[in-house]
Amino acid sequence: MKYEVSHLEIREAVSKLCEGFPGEYWRECDSKRDYPTDFVNALTKEGYLGALIPEAYGGSELPLSAGAAILEEVHRSGCNAAACHAQMYTMGTLLRHGSNEQKARYLPGIAEGSLRLQAFGVTEPTSGTDTTALRTTARLDGDNYIVNGQKIWTSRAEYSDLMLLLARTTPRDQVKKKTDGLSVFLVDMREVRGKSLTIRPIRTMMNHATTEVFFDEMPVPKANLIGEEGQGFRYILSGMNAERILISAECIGDAKWFIEKASAYASERTVFGRAIGQNQGVQFPIAKAYSQMRAAELMLNEAIRLYEAGQNPGEEANMAKMLSADASWAAGEACLQTHGGFGFAEEFDIERKYREARLYQVAPISTNLILSYLAEHVLDMPRSY
Ligand SMILES: Cc1cc2nc3c(=O)[nH]c(=O)nc-3n(C[C@H](O)[C@H](O)[C@H](O)COP(=O)(O)OP(=O)(O)OC[C@H]3O[C@@H](n4cnc5c(N)ncnc54)[C@H](O)[C@@H]3O)c2cc1C
Repeated sequence: MKYEVSHLEIREAVSKLCEGFPGEYWRECDSKRDYPTDFVNALTKEGYLGALIPEAYGGSELPLSAGAAILEEVHRSGCNAAACHAQMYTMGTLLRHGSNEQKARYLPGIAEGSLRLQAFGVTEPTSGTDTTALRTTARLDGDNYIVNGQKIWTSRAEYSDLMLLLARTTPRDQVKKKTDGLSVFLVDMREVRGKSLTIRPIRTMMNHATTEVFFDEMPVPKANLIGEEGQGFRYILSGMNAERILISAECIGDAKWFIEKASAYASERTVFGRAIGQNQGVQFPIAKAYSQMRAAELMLNEAIRLYEAGQNPGEEANMAKMLSADASWAAGEACLQTHGGFGFAEEFDIERKYREARLYQVAPISTNLILSYLAEHVLDMPRSY
């Protein structure tokens, strides 16, 4: 297959690293719901998780396209970056809006891997996608903010030192705009875990190390407020394009993995005396998924191009995420169907990848919300919520 590729050397190196983590490794982690510690350590050791951090703080200062290439390659190789991808985009909030003192304190550790910034606490059980309705509060008391409330789907909290947390510092009925009065904190979970912070794992249909977290009078030093109090929603939004782009790259990687597996199997599996791939009923869904993937990849490249040119590609980043998630899902469907019964057998890894790929229709933003963004902000249709 001919693909548009950038950062060829990085891709080759990541692909080589991934060879050390074959299907057996992921199957074992999946069945035990183990965190893929060795894989995350290997990526960290090679500097991939600090790729976007500026050189001044010990990172490689690579552009977003390099981050996308790394994550795409991880997924194209049959691995899963969900255990560690958040570090690439949550770090951006600290980088853009943190003080020099905060950056100097945390970024070098994150870049070298001694400090993990993998947890991102935004979603809550009662408010869901309606982020401004979140109920977790932070009130200033002397040198600390005191946090109370609950988050859900806080992935990787058990395997992270730091959490980027969004909480309300001014009640919703006391602000002009509902997006005001929210603040972002960098929580050092090592200091509060098991005391005022409780983390409970949630078992899901795939191995994702997600959790619910509870804050009970949890102190966060005032020095760990990112930027200005009350401006947190804006700071979180400013990282969304990068997040959408990086997740889109993972979906493109998944789609390529499914398509390669499906076309190879269709060519070699013989039924009724001929390769099943000779039947157009088998060929066409794979070819269609391939064309969906290529189209999504073009949109992803356009989003990256605009992002790296310093523009705000909200439209392209959202469309890239939605189209890539749709393409990976179509490719997963085609791959599973092509494998017939064997697609359901764990040893082929297809059912695992299929479960993993489904997430991106819902998280980190669901398809409906992207369509709603396009309808309202791009096509100027009336606001629906
Ligand atoms: C495995 C996993 C990991 C996650 N990791 C994290 C994480 O690390 N940090 C974090 O903060 N969050 C995380 N999330 C949360 C994720 O971002 C949310 O699940 C997602 O944004 C959807 O929110 P919700 O689940 O509250 O759904 P809801 O908001 O309850 O929505 C339910 C359904 O209704 C639809 N819907 C809601 N409102 C509208 C509307 N106005 N118009 C049309 N349709 C609508 C949605 O599209 C969705 O399909 C994770 C979720 C999962 C499942």
